[in-house]
Amino acid sequence: MEVKLSENEFLNAEGFICCSKCKEPKQSEYEGHRYSIPCKCRRDEIEAKELEEKRRKLEEKRAFSIPNAKLRSFTFDKDDQQDKETTNILKRYVSKFVEMKAKGLGLLLWGSVGTGKTFYAHCIANALIDAGYSVKSTSLSTVVQLAQDFENGEREINKILQNQVILIDDVGTERQTTFANEQIYNFIDKATSLNRVLLLTTNFMPKEFEEAAQDTADLVHARIYSRILEKCYPIKVNKIKHRDALKEENRQFMKNLLQEEEV
Ligand SMILES: [Zn+2]
Repeated sequence: MEVKLSENEFLNAEGFICCSKCKEPKQSEYEGHRYSIPCKCRRDEIEAKELEEKRRKLEEKRAFSIPNAKLRSFTFDKDDQQDKETTNILKRYVSKFVEMKAKGLGLLLWGSVGTGKTFYAHCIANALIDAGYSVKSTSLSTVVQLAQDFENGEREINKILQNQVILIDDVGTERQTTFANEQIYNFIDKATSLNRVLLLTTNFMPKEFEEAAQDTADLVHARIYSRILEKCYPIKVNKIKHRDALKEENRQFMKNLLQEEEV
């Protein structure tokens, strides 16, 4: 026989307190001693809290990995699907990442300005963060800037190098000084010898990289670019001009707005 205790609890036939909502007992017995156990509602509540905590930690990690909020929002589910071939190649790269990581093989996303290289690179970065990898999105200008800080620079650069994946946006746009090039070479050299995966974007063509890699008159550059080409597979991203599409969309929006009605 059941005895109602309150809105939320009742006593079952064995005299255990039970949850009125899920009907499960909230008590058990062992050698004559009663102790509390969680009913299904409580277990669900604990599980939801744990999930929320996990999600919060992941987002905290993501904020460190990709400090720029806009870049952090770039994910494959926001892809406009107009360049399916590139999307598929990049998703395949993510799905085979265990093998890629073992060999330290990265990508060189290349194409002209506004083709979505930065977008795609961060889609990959986000997918890898979701999969539990440590990622850092940075630029070579940042690395050079850090190298100029003789007090904390080395420590900060080493922090970047601790990540399994290093995303470097816009390779080739950094200032070209002897100091800068030395620092960049050191960084790329360390990253590759630590078997870090490099995800690079650039406006240059791989052919230009190849030429630079063979330029005996500019050995520092040659060393940087040959190291990159050893480790990064070039993928052309230029079929869809994301920015042009956006420009067209904005123009259409303005046109509609301005011509819509009489004022
Ligand atoms: Zn319950």
